[in-house]
Amino acid sequence: MLVPFRALDRQYRDLRKNLVAVFDRIGSSAGYIMGQGLEEFEARIAEYCETQYAVGVANGSDSMFLAMKALGIGPGDEVITCPNSFIATAWTIVAAGATPVFVDATDEYTIDTNGVAKAITPRTKAIIPVHLTGRPAAMDELKAIVAGTGIHLIEDAAQAIGARYKGARVGSLGICGSFSLHPLKSLNAMGDGGVITTNSKELWDKIKLLRNHGLKNRDECDVWGYNSRLDALQAAIVMEKMPFLDGWIERCRKIASFYRDELEGLVWVPRDKPHEFGIYHNFIIRTDQRDVLMDYLLQQGIETKVHYPIPIHLQKCAKDLGYSVGDFPVVETHARTIMSLPLYPELTDEEAALVTSKIKRFFAEKTGSKKVSADLSV
Ligand SMILES: *Cc1c(COP(=O)(O)O)cnc(C)c1O
Repeated sequence: MLVPFRALDRQYRDLRKNLVAVFDRIGSSAGYIMGQGLEEFEARIAEYCETQYAVGVANGSDSMFLAMKALGIGPGDEVITCPNSFIATAWTIVAAGATPVFVDATDEYTIDTNGVAKAITPRTKAIIPVHLTGRPAAMDELKAIVAGTGIHLIEDAAQAIGARYKGARVGSLGICGSFSLHPLKSLNAMGDGGVITTNSKELWDKIKLLRNHGLKNRDECDVWGYNSRLDALQAAIVMEKMPFLDGWIERCRKIASFYRDELEGLVWVPRDKPHEFGIYHNFIIRTDQRDVLMDYLLQQGIETKVHYPIPIHLQKCAKDLGYSVGDFPVVETHARTIMSLPLYPELTDEEAALVTSKIKRFFAEKTGSKKVSADLSV
């Protein structure tokens, strides 16, 4: 592969010395679960996300699940979200005992707030906007919709650490923000990890209990809990990477800007709105030539992916929810036309240029001219 879709080994190569030292430090400390290192990491994440509190948990799915549990969401409750997300956005609602209610997305992949307003019922307990691709959802519109209703906004910010909405960091915009530290996310552990950010002391306290068996101290337990802690080693690894995060985001934005300049007019390209600061976790283009273009690029040694080819409401596991083809036309059309280009901080200028030149060549060969593809907005 000339240009792999992701290249995690490059980050390890760059940070090897630091990470080996972290491993040695944690190994020698003999403190592998909980402890001061984890608390320092949580404080650092809270500071970065501009919230008062953060809790480390085992992964970015548990962070959503535990947030819902701590908010008392369960059987009989409805939670509104988008069907164009990673499956965890929905299964965690089901695992909490509640019912996912889907709403279509906008052309920018975030939840359509008009659809949200129509989907609210007396059973709605929360809305989970997903900051998909690292672009913040329309939080002010959502806040206006839930004002005075008691409905919670839980941000699925798994793909968006560092993104800003009207100047504010994602994770600080709802009752809580949920982040994943999975190796494929922008800030990552060498394994699974997750964090919840919040300004609610009550929620913070509850989630800290729930992630650690419900124990309030070594021996006493007031509530049934779970085992969903963030390992001291993973917390230390991510802590070591924190100073690099803003630089990585800048680099990703720079590559995104290059892709946009080079490809605009040939395919649909994402662009920040004036009030947004996206982190381009994924750079998703749209073209009705998607499948042939992906094959062509793969033959040229360029790996691309689809996020996501099967909308959640059309997955087999969602059958009992009763949705069918045609329910969410925007998401369903996108599923046929979207593709994600390789984009990560370690991607070189040469590699990015290879990606765009091959895409340009594809369209030149395909159409015999620089003909612009059809408008793919729905
Ligand atoms: C990755 C991801 C999750 C789940 O995170 P894990 O750490 O893999 O459990 C949830 N939502 C979205 C949008 C994601 O991209």
